[in-house]
Amino acid sequence: MSEAYLNYEVYLDYNASAPLDPRVAEAMAAILTDTGNASSAHRFGRRQSATVDEAREHVAALVGGRASGVVFTAGATEANNLALTGAVLAAPADRPRILISAVEHASVRQTARWLDEQGLAKLDVIPVTGGGFVAPAAVESMMGDDVLLVSVMAANSETGVLNPVGEIAEPVRAAGALFHCDATQMAGRLPFDLDRWGCDLVSVSSHKICGPGGVGALVGARRSLARLRAVIHGGGHEHGLRSGSLNVAGIAGFGEAARIAIAERQSESVRVAARRDRLAGEIKDRIAGAQENGDVARRLPNTANIGFEGADAEAVVARMDPVAASTGSACSSGAIEPSEVLLAMGIDREAAFEAVRFSLGRFTTERDIEVAVESTVTAVEYVRAMTGYGDRRRPGADEGRPSDLNRDRPGEANEGRPDAPG
Ligand code: PMP
Repeated sequence: MSEAYLNYEVYLDYNASAPLDPRVAEAMAAILTDTGNASSAHRFGRRQSATVDEAREHVAALVGGRASGVVFTAGATEANNLALTGAVLAAPADRPRILISAVEHASVRQTARWLDEQGLAKLDVIPVTGGGFVAPAAVESMMGDDVLLVSVMAANSETGVLNPVGEIAEPVRAAGALFHCDATQMAGRLPFDLDRWGCDLVSVSSHKICGPGGVGALVGARRSLARLRAVIHGGGHEHGLRSGSLNVAGIAGFGEAARIAIAERQSESVRVAARRDRLAGEIKDRIAGAQENGDVARRLPNTANIGFEGADAEAVVARMDPVAASTGSACSSGAIEPSEVLLAMGIDREAAFEAVRFSLGRFTTERDIEVAVESTVTAVEYVRAMTGYGDRRRPGADEGRPSDLNRDRPGEANEGRPDAPG
């Protein structure tokens, strides 16, 4: 890579967190300097609650819902926890089962596992195809009138692969169960229609759509929200489901980010997809053994998940600096584990360790793509050279993982990472 690139930063990790849009920052600044609690009856409070109400409209529109069905939370993690735990706490005894897909985000997966471990629900996992999506027939075959809730995400954060949400919801609703959809990665990027697709509960997050971090929402039809119990107790805010004084500036920022996303998502998705395709195309042309994971015909416009045979992804990503991309590996108790998403798709452990996720967005430029391609080619060649790829394709387990390259480089790659990003 040419020296000219070294001071040029490229951010291709939008699925972990997208940059704040300056227009959103401007909208928030005006609120941050205002005073009052949105629950107070005086004029200061009323001004704050009017700001929240406006944001409610935009956030509801993001997923085709109604403002009256928006429960603001501190992010999609909390929205997912509320959907699953809230439903289980309110469940009738004859509906003990919950179903989640095998590729859900940790905030759905771990909540569901915890509910099962606590004996509060009985968890079953819906398999995915090799392409990384849930087949409606798989859901249908697992349904029964003992199922309380089914949770299947709209788009996967690691592969970008989209699920046929409307078709999946059909058998769920027919069985009288709640259908929850984590739309964190899809909302704002592609149109989402809660009503038409038959979703009961939908989770969204502000920082994936160029809004501020730490704010999200669970959006539902009112009759669906009535089937939940609160998880956070207190003053009874947000339909009694999420007590706590509202984060008005954050909510205003989320509302503005939603408004912009709805207005611009069509043109943005075309522009971003063209850049993503250029990135993936040039990488595959220049790097032998580079392969995309997931069904490329049905995915978000901004995501490419590319495996580099014989090159450990953590080592590649560390070497790609100043280009930011990520791996789906998780760090638990000091040991690096491969992405559960890729394993669920039938990808073997070795290949799962070689996958890099590139996720683009609103501010990604053609020059970013040029720098990212050069940087990726250089990094993969370096890692392969260090680990003798070419002399021996696919090293055996006893030869040590190429990620050992990182062990002597404190501060890089995996330090202090609690779980998979984004
Ligand atoms: N669901 C999905 C699919 C996600 O990608 C993320 C973000 N990493 C979350 C939930 C959690 O969102 P938040 O960061 O707002 O808690």
